[in-house]
Amino acid sequence: MRSTRSCCPISPPAVRALREVRDPANRRHRYPFTNCTHCGPRFTIIEALPYDRPATTMKRFTMCRSCASEYADPADRRFHAQPNACPDCGPRLALWSENGVELGSEDSALAGAAEAIREGRIVAVKGLGGFHLVCDARNDAAVSALRERKHRLEKPLALLFPDLEGLSRACLVSDGEARLLTSPQAPIVLLARAAQTSGEVAASVAPGNPYLGAMLPMTPLHHLLMADLGFPVVATSGNLSDEPICTDEHEAVRRLAGLADRFLVHDRPIVRHVDDSVARVVLGREGLIRRARGYAPLPIELDGGDGAVASGPTVLAMGAHLKNTVALAVGSQAFVSQHVGDLETPEALAAFRDVVASLEGLYRAVPALAVADLHPDYVSTQHALAGVAPVVRVQHHVAHVAACVAENQLAGPVLGVAWDGTGLGADGTIWGGEFLAVDGARFRRVAALRPFRLPGGDAAAREPRRAALGILHAILGPTVLARRDLAPIAAFEPSELAVMGKALERGVNAPLTTSAGRLFDAVASLAGLRQRASFEGQAAMELEWACAEGERDAYPLPLAAWTGGAGPHAPAWMLDWEPLLHALLDDRARGVEVSTVARRFHAALARAIAAVAERIGEKRVVLSGGCFQNRVLLESVVAALRAAGHEPYWHQRVPPNDGGLALGQVALARHLARH
Ligand code: ZN
Ligand code: FE
Repeated sequence: MRSTRSCCPISPPAVRALREVRDPANRRHRYPFTNCTHCGPRFTIIEALPYDRPATTMKRFTMCRSCASEYADPADRRFHAQPNACPDCGPRLALWSENGVELGSEDSALAGAAEAIREGRIVAVKGLGGFHLVCDARNDAAVSALRERKHRLEKPLALLFPDLEGLSRACLVSDGEARLLTSPQAPIVLLARAAQTSGEVAASVAPGNPYLGAMLPMTPLHHLLMADLGFPVVATSGNLSDEPICTDEHEAVRRLAGLADRFLVHDRPIVRHVDDSVARVVLGREGLIRRARGYAPLPIELDGGDGAVASGPTVLAMGAHLKNTVALAVGSQAFVSQHVGDLETPEALAAFRDVVASLEGLYRAVPALAVADLHPDYVSTQHALAGVAPVVRVQHHVAHVAACVAENQLAGPVLGVAWDGTGLGADGTIWGGEFLAVDGARFRRVAALRPFRLPGGDAAAREPRRAALGILHAILGPTVLARRDLAPIAAFEPSELAVMGKALERGVNAPLTTSAGRLFDAVASLAGLRQRASFEGQAAMELEWACAEGERDAYPLPLAAWTGGAGPHAPAWMLDWEPLLHALLDDRARGVEVSTVARRFHAALARAIAAVAERIGEKRVVLSGGCFQNRVLLESVVAALRAAGHEPYWHQRVPPNDGGLALGQVALARHLARH
C-alpha cells in the first residue's frame, strides 16, 4: 500500500470520515485530525518518499492500540493510512493568545476561536499548508482592520464558506464551478457575484470586483470551525504582503505579531508551505491561476506525442521572478512546485531555496542541467548560476509558449501568442506583446506590438499613467505634455511631466517595450479608470470588468510593417496601436461610455490576433502569458481564432502567468539537450 513515486497532494475529508467527526457516539467525534486512506494531508507532511509514516511528520505521534489495529488491518478503511490518528494519540488543537499563551485546548480551543471571530477579531488558523488569517467576512470593520494590518489595501481577499448552499447565495455557481469547489483539490474558485448578496459579504472584501474568490472547508478542522460559525469568513494567507505563508506556530506568533489577535494551532508540523490554489472555469473548462494546494506537485507528462522531450536529462527549472514556481523534469514527467510567490524579500528567497531543495530531495534527483530566464537580475537566475549544474538560459516568452505547448501535449510548429507585463527580450528590450513561431526550442519572432517608451521603466508597472504618457508621446510628440484634458496627463504634477518629457525625448530611463500588459494599462489610464495601481495588473483587470455586453464594434489595430529597428530579432510585422489610440481619444472626447471603450479595445485585440494568425498561416495558435487571465480577452480571442479556422490552445493545468513559466523552461531545456 506504500505509494512509491506518487506524492499526491491532500484531499478533503471523505464523506465517511466527516460522518465520524459529526457522530457523538464515534471515538473521533469532533476530532479535527480525522482522516482515512482516501483523505488527509500528504504533500505537507511528507519528509521523504516512499510515503510511509516514519517519513512523515506523524512519526512523533505513536498510535494507540485502536489506531494501530486499524492501520494494520487490510480490511480496515484506515489500513496503512499514514496520518491515522485519534483524540487519544494524535495531534492536538490549542488556542493561543496574541503572545502565544495557551488559552484553551481541543474543543474549547475551537469554541474560543469561533467566539473571537464572532467578536470581530482576527484569528490565525494553522491549516494544511500554512496559516490563514481569518475574520468575519460580514464585518466591514474586521475586514478593514485585516487589510490595514496586512498592508494589503485593495487586492481581493479569499472567502471560506461553511457550505455550498451559503456560497450559492453570494455567488453565481454553475455545475462546473460547483464540481470544482467540491473536488478533492478544493481550490479557491473565482465566481461572479450574485446580484443580491444580502449583506453576507462586506464591501471591503473585494472592492469594485465583480468576482469573489471562494472556497469550501478542506479539512475536518475547517468543517468543524465553519459549522460552528455558520457564516462566511475571509481566509487569506497568513503572511505580510510579499512574504511566504507561515507554517510553524512559534514562528507565526513572531511573524504575525500585530496581525492576529488569536492563534488556533496544532502540533502536527508542516514540512512545506503550500498556499491555496486559485482556479476558475472559463470556456467550459477548469483553469488554474495559482497552482498549489491539491495540485502541486502532481506531475505533467512531457510526452507530446513524438517523444521529443519525454526522455532526457534530469532538469531543474528556476522559473520567473514574480509568481515564482520551480519545476523538475525526471524521466518523462515534470513536477511543477507549489506557488512560491514574488522573490522580493529575504523570506521569499529562503522559501524559494527550500522549495528547490525539497523538490530535489523528494525525488532524489540530481539535475544534470539547470534552466533560467535570460534576465540577469532575477534572483532565480542568479541562484541557477551559483549552482553546480550547467545552466541553459531561455527567453521568457518562448518559455511561456513552451509551457502551453507542453501542457496541451502538442508537438511540431505552432504560432505562440505570448502577452504579459514584461520579460527580457532576446534583443535586450522589454518584450510582452509577442507572436512567436515556435517549433521545439527553435523560435522566430514573427510579429509584436509596436514598441513604445515607458518613462521610469519598472515604475510603470504600478503607474498606468506612465504607460499612457509613453504611448501618447509616441504619436503626439512633446505637445502631449500640455494636454491637461487627458486623464493621464492631468494625473501628473507639471514638474513631473517636465522630467518625464525630457526622459522620453532623450530615451533615457524610458526603455522601449512591446508589452501588451502596459498597453492595457495605458488604455485603462486614458479611459480614466486608474492612474496608479496598488498591484500589477489592477488597471487591466478594471478595464476587463468595465466591458459592456453586446457592443460589436472594434477599434482599428492594423498589421503593419515593423518600424522598431533592425536586428536578428526584429519581426516582419507589428500591430500598430496608433489608429486605435486616435479612435479611442475621439470616443473619449465625444463622451462615449467607458464600458463601450473597454469593449472596443478588447475586440480590437481579438481581431488583431486572428489577423496575425491568418497572415502567418499557422493552424495551431497557443495563447500564454498573464494577459490571458483576462476572461474577456481569452474568450474573444478563442472565438475569433475559431471563426478564422484556427485551433486555439490555452492553459488549464498550469497558470498562464509566470507561475507556469518553469514548465516551459524544462521543456525547452529537454529540446536543447537533444541537439
Ligand atoms: Zn489513536
Ligand atoms: Fe511573463
